[in-house]
Amino acid sequence: MSNLNANTPAPEPVVPSDFIRDLVAAHVAEGKYPKIHTRFPPEPNGYLHLGHAKSICLNFGIAREFGGACNLRLDDTNPTQEEAEYVEAIRTDVNWLIAGWADDQLGLKPKGKTPETVIAKGSPDFYLPAVTGTPSPAVEPFYASDYFDQIYAYAQQLIEKGRAFICDLSAADMEGYRGAPDRPGTESPFRHRTVAENLDLFARMKAGEFPDGARTLRAKIDMASPNLWLRDPILYRIKHAAHHHTGTRWCLYPMYDFAHCLSDYIEGITHSICTLEFEVHRPLYDWILESLALPRALPRQYEFAKLIPSHTIVSKRKLIQLVNDKVVTGWDDPRLPTLSGIRRRGVTAQALRAFAYHIGVTKYISLTDVSVYEHAIRDDLNQRALRRLAVLRPIRVVLTNYPAGQTEELEAVNHPADESAGKRNLPFSRELYIEREDFAEVPPPKFFRLKPGGEVRLKYAYIIRCDEVIKDAAGNVTELRCTADLESKSGGATAGRKIKGTIHWVSAAHAIDAEVRLYDRLFTEAEPELDGRDYKTVLNPHSLEVITAKCEPSLAGAAPEERYQFERLAFFTLDKDSAPGKPVFNRTITLKDTWAKQAGKP
Ligand code: ATP
Ligand code: MG
Repeated sequence: MSNLNANTPAPEPVVPSDFIRDLVAAHVAEGKYPKIHTRFPPEPNGYLHLGHAKSICLNFGIAREFGGACNLRLDDTNPTQEEAEYVEAIRTDVNWLIAGWADDQLGLKPKGKTPETVIAKGSPDFYLPAVTGTPSPAVEPFYASDYFDQIYAYAQQLIEKGRAFICDLSAADMEGYRGAPDRPGTESPFRHRTVAENLDLFARMKAGEFPDGARTLRAKIDMASPNLWLRDPILYRIKHAAHHHTGTRWCLYPMYDFAHCLSDYIEGITHSICTLEFEVHRPLYDWILESLALPRALPRQYEFAKLIPSHTIVSKRKLIQLVNDKVVTGWDDPRLPTLSGIRRRGVTAQALRAFAYHIGVTKYISLTDVSVYEHAIRDDLNQRALRRLAVLRPIRVVLTNYPAGQTEELEAVNHPADESAGKRNLPFSRELYIEREDFAEVPPPKFFRLKPGGEVRLKYAYIIRCDEVIKDAAGNVTELRCTADLESKSGGATAGRKIKGTIHWVSAAHAIDAEVRLYDRLFTEAEPELDGRDYKTVLNPHSLEVITAKCEPSLAGAAPEERYQFERLAFFTLDKDSAPGKPVFNRTITLKDTWAKQAGKP
């Protein structure tokens, strides 16, 4: 159930505009393509992360805004690195991130327009989402490996055109022939094989006649090109390895550069959007497509700067290390920036999409402070989270003037700004828990919570005064004996009495225990790997603290998809490790940025 407040005005529409969308808009305006078609092409060699969310939101977002389509394509040309587990995780994560996008207030959503309408820039309806009203249907992935036959046939065509040859150089030899950026390479001695010989060898490579590394198919371009990617790059290599999708059908696999542009072409992609490191590959992308003299419109590649969030690591290779080294509990550890970890932590897809729109798309590589991401999460959860009372580090309070054995039900609102979220009852009785931090025996200046002889209001309940502090033999405070102003609850004679502090509480007899996992940033430094530093030296030792909290009884019925604000503390969501009668809550994020405060300290 979504608790997004229906009564508050929709936020100002965020209209994304960036150089890629401007370009797409221009193409739409000039009618360059019948339909805009993008794709998101992860390699299934790990779990998707926050950086991928930027790319997903860009590619699916453009399709949605311009009435186009976006394919999820598994770029699965490297069987030894890839696994079916990753395919499933990618499918789940992408669908989670884009599901229900139609409900967002992110773009303008004029009523009465059909989803397919493509609207020209300049019109107020320009950013009409392609999908309105109904959530996007589930996305099923395409597989580059489904095109292996076609891609093989294209390779044969290149050979026939004299633009590719079979090379017998070993990897090491090839390295020597390649030259350097400031020095031309040397042509392979196998470059001048006849077309017939090349076709024959290529067929025999496919048939499995040669071992790994014995031969490659290479493009015949220019060994003197200043762009090293154009120095007769490898298009196919022999790999006797089983593939998660094609099994043992192939022992010959296309390289990324060859498979990618052709997969784009096969799927009718118009805008092939990727990150900047692929800019140097673009001439090869174009060379392959143009050399084949293909009949349909060619896809074009556009590059943007990847998301580099601070205080974390977003490289699949590094994330695998964190998982394998057991720094975290798994790919979905809520401290990881993987989409599965982010989801488990309680972040909503809407918050991620809002973040992706907010950071924008540019060609400038820069570090994005993680506080920007955290702000988007707070913003979203503040609107949707149901308010609850829970005490993380309890201290007992006994109300000496409240009858023993009496319980009353006090009314509390579920959301202060959303009446439709309704109300609930909170049981109140003589013995309560309050947060240990909300009491100070020797209060610092401006301490407006409970202190000896002082008064504080219990939220939704009474004003209490602390009369006596009970300690154990070691001098630890174990109990506070207080009196309640029994006229001070809502509707009472002294309800309006002004008291500086309000604190949360739970009734001791009614509270339920819950395991609470207090997650925090995984790294203490903005750039964990700055100047080659070992990220293990800057792990935050406090990234996870597990405690048992006392919670109001309604939290026994907490729902997995629900988001809660434990008032005055943080946002929480139920973890999958919960069992009946044994709830486990994950702290998604604190109410305030505690890191900003720390950073401000000298
Ligand atoms: P990693 O380096 O984390 O392994 P990758 O680039 O190898 O990521 P792919 O699965 O090949 O991962 O990426 C799929 C798509 O996501 C590509 O188009 C890639 O450009 C894009 N992408 C990857 N990382 C980021 C990022 N940090 N920000 C934005 N887009 C990204
Ligand atoms: Mg990469």
